Amino acid sequence: MLGSYRNKLPAYASTYHGDRNGGLDSKEAFSSFAEECYDLGYRAFKIHGWHEGNAKEEAENLLHVAKTVGDKMTLMIDPACQLRTFADALYVGHACDDAGYFWLEDPYRDSGVSSFAHKRLRESIKTPILQTEHVRGIEPKADFLIAGGTDFLRSDPEYDMGITGAMKIAHLGESFGIDVEVHACGPAHRHVMGAMRNSNFYEVALVGPDSPNTMAPVYECGYTDMIDCVDKDGYVKVPEGPGLGVIYDWNFIKANTKALTVYE
Ligand SMILES: [Mg+2]
Repeated sequence: MLGSYRNKLPAYASTYHGDRNGGLDSKEAFSSFAEECYDLGYRAFKIHGWHEGNAKEEAENLLHVAKTVGDKMTLMIDPACQLRTFADALYVGHACDDAGYFWLEDPYRDSGVSSFAHKRLRESIKTPILQTEHVRGIEPKADFLIAGGTDFLRSDPEYDMGITGAMKIAHLGESFGIDVEVHACGPAHRHVMGAMRNSNFYEVALVGPDSPNTMAPVYECGYTDMIDCVDKDGYVKVPEGPGLGVIYDWNFIKANTKALTVYE
């Protein structure tokens, strides 16, 4: 019903945030985890840095990861608005330029909503910017794009008013010749991206050493967004069949329900 452009999607391993507790707690840990992801089949990797937002530490980390796997993986970084100032975003942006990052996403603590500031950032660095995860719905995203605040648009069928809303944003991007990157993972996300030409990578989020993902095991048909969901070339399949193409495990869902909201 959506129309189909493709039935498999190139995926990236999207890490959980850096920690100080034996997980992704150093640039060496990030690099060796990137190597692990490469061995699983991933050909793209995205860093979520530390909550402290230390620009020097973030820059050193992204440069080290690029030195380790940059010749064989496409790299992105998402400080998730944890860098404190515009100057920090510039500093990390220049490191992205040096290392050839594919995109820089939500760098600093304007909370990802200032089109003016990100236009200024785009004028100062070469690395493409990915904004509008925190700018919800088609009209504000159109304003942000027209104001020059981003290179890529973000779209999410959960954040942006369903599959219909996410597809409107896909077509908004297409009408401007812009790519739209789908945020996070799930069956609806795969269908949306499968129906789009102008999108590059599927986000397997959030993964790390000893943490195969945070997605609940709510399917009984073998569908998975765990870290090992990619094939040897780093692709995931778009589910087939009616609806979302998956069968939900309602026994598991009912047994683990903590709250219920009904929209009518
Ligand atoms: Mg993000």
